[in-house]
Amino acid sequence: MALSEFELIERYFTGVGTGRDDVILSVGDDTALVAPHAGRHLALSLDTLVAGVHFPVDAPAETVGYKSLAVNLSDLAAMAAEPAWLLLALTLPQADPDWLEHFAGGLATLANEAGMALVGGDISRGQALTVTVQVAGYSDRPLRRDGARPGDGLYISGTLGDAALGLKLWQGGQREGSDACFLIERLHHPNPRITLAQALADLANAAIDVSDGLLADAGHLANRSAVAVTIEPHRLPLSPALRRSAPATQATILALTGGDDYELCLSLPLEREREAQARAEEIGVKLTRIGRVVEGNGVQLVSPTGEKTAYEYSGYKHFC
Ligand code: ADP
Ligand code: MG
Repeated sequence: MALSEFELIERYFTGVGTGRDDVILSVGDDTALVAPHAGRHLALSLDTLVAGVHFPVDAPAETVGYKSLAVNLSDLAAMAAEPAWLLLALTLPQADPDWLEHFAGGLATLANEAGMALVGGDISRGQALTVTVQVAGYSDRPLRRDGARPGDGLYISGTLGDAALGLKLWQGGQREGSDACFLIERLHHPNPRITLAQALADLANAAIDVSDGLLADAGHLANRSAVAVTIEPHRLPLSPALRRSAPATQATILALTGGDDYELCLSLPLEREREAQARAEEIGVKLTRIGRVVEGNGVQLVSPTGEKTAYEYSGYKHFC
């Protein structure tokens, strides 16, 4: 028998995530009530994922649940914020209990890992499967986009381009073998860099998370900071799986322009590089210098011999 909206909420979305002492009232009333710790700033953000636009229509339900929170956690990470609460709005073509159970499971896994509580949301029927997650957390030492200064180095966490190739492989039905599995895993389960951002918050001058491709997002950081950034493509960190699965030029293009990496791009003074890399290593994340911050505007690519080219690429656009 079909479950009502209230039964769905009760069964799948009540008690999701960790218990928190700053949650006064959770799912079930007209609003949630939270008691933020006095004197701390709140960081708020939301992101919507639409089936066929932000994730493949045949993506497993667990990965949709996981990723809908992960992309939001990546925004909190880019501000060096500490995750606390989330709200979930779901539009579903139908209420399939099996799908919902796996969706809620993926969401709960990451909510627990991040120490967050799901405190409310909304469910309605609609044509396209659409998931909106709103997150809130504490931001005591925000890492804004507008603090990059000439003289800084430009750094990236982890590796780039994996998720973009993972998407191509998934769409082409090439899902066998350890390299393909690794790349598809990077697409479905991005690793928001919350811990890294908090560890680097007192060293970095600016940060942005890379969701739409490095060139586009580094460009946003440059614009907001009124500086130019240089990127040396030969320095880009590529995973062994990406290197083995794509020719070198294609791998570099994917790393420069591919979306869905959810790595952190940071600007920090060159003299803090050693300390930043030591802290990143302690956390188990690679931090690679990929370029510099200089005077001017936009993004310049610099070859190993020092030749510069301006690169026109603005990332994925929904409306043009
Ligand atoms: P209202 O009609 O006041 O909007 P709803 O029937 O939509 O109330 O929701 C009832 C309660 O369930 C509210 O506390 C709401 O926040 C919560 N809720 C609804 N949908 C979800 C969901 N997908 N996840 C978590 N909580 C939800
Ligand atoms: Mg409602």
